[in-house]
Amino acid sequence: MAAEIHSRPQSSRPVLLNKIEGHQDAVNAAVLIPKEDGVITVGEDRTIRVWLKRDSGQYWPSIYHTVSSPCSSVSYHHDSRRIFIGQDNGAIVEFLISEDFNKMNHVKTYPAHQGRVCGLLFSLESEWVVSCSHDKSLSWMCTQTGAMLGRHTLNAWASCLQFDHETRHAFVGDYSGQITLLKLDRQTYSTITTLKGHEGSIGALWWDPVQRLLFSGAADHSIIMWDIGGRKGRTLLLQGHHDKVQAVRYLQLTRQLVSCSADGAITVWNMDTRREEAPQWLDSDSCQRCEQPFFWNLKQMWDTKTLGLRQHHCRKCGQAVCGKCSSKRSSFPLMGFEFQVRMCDSCHSSIKDEDRTALATFHEGKHNISFMDMDPSRGLMTTCGSDRVVKIWDMTQVVGCSIATGFSPR
Ligand SMILES: [Zn+2]
Ligand SMILES: [Zn+2]
Repeated sequence: MAAEIHSRPQSSRPVLLNKIEGHQDAVNAAVLIPKEDGVITVGEDRTIRVWLKRDSGQYWPSIYHTVSSPCSSVSYHHDSRRIFIGQDNGAIVEFLISEDFNKMNHVKTYPAHQGRVCGLLFSLESEWVVSCSHDKSLSWMCTQTGAMLGRHTLNAWASCLQFDHETRHAFVGDYSGQITLLKLDRQTYSTITTLKGHEGSIGALWWDPVQRLLFSGAADHSIIMWDIGGRKGRTLLLQGHHDKVQAVRYLQLTRQLVSCSADGAITVWNMDTRREEAPQWLDSDSCQRCEQPFFWNLKQMWDTKTLGLRQHHCRKCGQAVCGKCSSKRSSFPLMGFEFQVRMCDSCHSSIKDEDRTALATFHEGKHNISFMDMDPSRGLMTTCGSDRVVKIWDMTQVVGCSIATGFSPR
């Protein structure tokens, strides 16, 4: 993979435009202000700051506000200048930012949760603030009256949230690796389904209301695309990270997915190409190629006087195979395997060289990324995390129509 990164031309990389420093602790969110050279940051150091780009080219705070508890999440609505901050103590505070970004006035405090608010979204259409928390609940509150409208209790700490403003569906990711899909109403709700597919806590969710696609990134290093609009239960697995995936963003116009992981990797996926579902792993008591028994198959081991083998799975066909029958490795981007994975011998020999052409590009953010925001219309991206630095990137060379139509082969 390293060789591939270095062989890419300089121009197709994210270009670092600016760095914002000065936070005393982790920056939990850095949101781009639409149509302004501005960024809003919220941090573990209990600050909310609005940064504007000055004539010097550097970003300086025009608002610096300290609250009583670490700021864990944010939802900013640009047209109304309303901003909602989720806090570590479970409260959500609403402020109104002045037109010139020099003042911020407190509007309301919502006693939404008993624990850290890790995801929240303001919906102007419903006048709701929907939020999820480490107190294992999802709540939605009326922003006109401040009243709690409803609450749903989950089995695990919630970690992230997406909301469809039109249909009022909420998607809640949690630490057990599940995503709960709910339909919210005023004071009632129904649980639609639970999406199970990850083997680690959900780090990020992104809902695309147009194509009705849900993307989830998780601590198991993988991303799943849940094709809700397709109504056929299609899921695509995307494996192109070596660390926890903590931010995902789908660009509907160019059909690209941008994902970031804790190790600073930024991966840009071409979703405008044929992709196949990875197979379910099959169960067997013996290798489905050489028929030797696996170690728990005591009867066959005794009958044939053979030693039991460990079970592995071919990522391409899903068959249960022994180590000897699956000694080779290959990438297979068509199924989302951008890195080398285990293949049985027959699958390995069936893969042609062109099948190994990457369907994603790989970039280095060079800092811990726990949050990412993008403004696709300007090609801007912000990343931030525990290293207290906010980076502002020019992504125009990476995300764009030329890239979306297909990546050049290696
Ligand atoms: Zn075998
Ligand atoms: Zn196979």
